[in-house]
Amino acid sequence: MIDTTTNACNPERSLNFIEEIIEADLAAGKHKTILTRFPPEPNGYLHIGHAKSICLNFGLAQKYGGATNLRFDDTNPVKEDTEYVDSIKEDVKWLGFSWANELYASDYFEQLYSWAIALIKKGFAYVDDQTQEEIRATRGTVTAPGVDSPYRNRSVEENVDLFTRMRNGEFADGEKVLRAKIDMAHTNMLMRDPIMYRILHTNHHRTGNRWCIYPMYDYAHGECDSIEKITHSICTLEFDVHRPLYDWFIEKLEIFPSHQYEFARLRLTYTVMSKRKLLELVKGSYVTGWDDPRMPTICGIRRRGYTPESIRAFADKVGVAKRDNLIDLSLLEWCIREDLNKRSLRRMAVLNPVKLVITNYPAGKTETTEAINNPEDESAGKRMLTLSRELYIERDDFMENPPKKFFRLAPGQEVRLKYFGYIIKCENVVKDAKGKITEIHCTYDADKSRSVKGTIHWVAAADCKPVEVRLFDRLFVEPFMDAIPEEKDYKEYLNPDSLQTITGYVEPALLNEKSGNIPVQFERLGYFAVDSDSSADKMIFNRTVTLKDTWAKIEKKQ
Ligand code: ATP
Ligand code: MG
Repeated sequence: MIDTTTNACNPERSLNFIEEIIEADLAAGKHKTILTRFPPEPNGYLHIGHAKSICLNFGLAQKYGGATNLRFDDTNPVKEDTEYVDSIKEDVKWLGFSWANELYASDYFEQLYSWAIALIKKGFAYVDDQTQEEIRATRGTVTAPGVDSPYRNRSVEENVDLFTRMRNGEFADGEKVLRAKIDMAHTNMLMRDPIMYRILHTNHHRTGNRWCIYPMYDYAHGECDSIEKITHSICTLEFDVHRPLYDWFIEKLEIFPSHQYEFARLRLTYTVMSKRKLLELVKGSYVTGWDDPRMPTICGIRRRGYTPESIRAFADKVGVAKRDNLIDLSLLEWCIREDLNKRSLRRMAVLNPVKLVITNYPAGKTETTEAINNPEDESAGKRMLTLSRELYIERDDFMENPPKKFFRLAPGQEVRLKYFGYIIKCENVVKDAKGKITEIHCTYDADKSRSVKGTIHWVAAADCKPVEVRLFDRLFVEPFMDAIPEEKDYKEYLNPDSLQTITGYVEPALLNEKSGNIPVQFERLGYFAVDSDSSADKMIFNRTVTLKDTWAKIEKKQ
């Protein structure tokens, strides 16, 4: 089921379940103030799912006068990189949030190590010499208990000695691990003596070669939360089975009792959202990079022309669910249209041009008029438009044999010219040898007072400017309503027409803008943003979104 319910973004909406917990905690005096964290692993660029988590964590802290830490969960040196750290910081800032502290799990390696020693000394951890395969094979199943490791009852002294030597680099990768000593028959498989540390002789992007043992997520995460005194540690639903372990370590170490709360991971139709898959799309050149405007990454949608406001509104509308929620991509598109409608400059652009000659308009004559930049915002001002004898209009705005309700241009039919108000009438067309229309000949009527059904946009052949226009569509043709089956390759569903590059003609005022960052609405066509590949002599515009949901129509027809 696609969930498009709107959890309205007004302050009067009912509390979500995490807000309820926080309000109860504050009312009970459990915490004076709240501290949340956003804990990305720097192994890829952030996507819209992460944006949901960012808006939630930072949003809660803002709402309740607390703070949020940005903590890099960098406990797996193999896949992590400072390039990702930098991009993550840029993306969080762009979304409009500032963190109280920039922290790294790797900064806590020494503390985590001494806590591991403390657990060993309390008899809650041991060094295991079994291989990964042996450990996996003896874990048991959901219905059958696991088997104790033959190394489970090593003495505290021996465990301390071995773990110290693990740290000192005396063993090779995989030779030993440190495991928590819990219960090999526990009904929760994760509680069956989970691995706390593994040996990895790998360079870490921050600690270099200082460490050759690295903590596992389950051991590191709760302890990092506790070190920072995080009050509400919010993560996605799949971690609910990890919560007993999160609590177990904190309880055994008798440290600050951070608590974990889970909400549903955001899924969006027509896209994939795991960093592994996104990396594959980049590496395999299915897209031009992490910031390809078709990617669901934050840098991709930013380059496409999405605004931080629209993403925040989207996150709010999606709300906080406890059950898996698949959100229709059209909700995200609706949010960006709402926002761009308010802030974008209106400009005329013709993307599929055909020449139109106003035969009774004298050659060389021009006239100008002022046109408002944005009907939604008076302060956006006005620009000048110049009309002359030869124009370009959209090829689609003309039909030689139109159906009944075609209120645009057709032989003998009239339309109004946007902004000038003149009514033009199609008298005849000129075709090339192949029968393609090359010119539409019209006459105009200086009397603007008559009423006609259609108004079309245009650019003047004399002063319009060519620009490159990139028309994006969904990256995948498949909505992915259900999880993709293992045997299927999601790349088979890539949309072959997700990018169309064309030359469009735009009114000159578009290129006068000092600030290239202002979004524009190409009237009747969609919202567009200047692409970062643009140069002074070659402007490139990305279509952020069409004016209307064209897919809704296509789907209805099918
Ligand atoms: P992915 O599975 O996409 O690779 P991840 O969960 O491994 O993502 P992390 O860097 O570990 O990525 O995530 C940082 C935070 O963002 C975590 O708290 C995680 O729960 C949250 N998060 C990740 N993906 C989503 C999502 N789709 N919806 C909501 N929150 C998410
Ligand atoms: Mg992760």
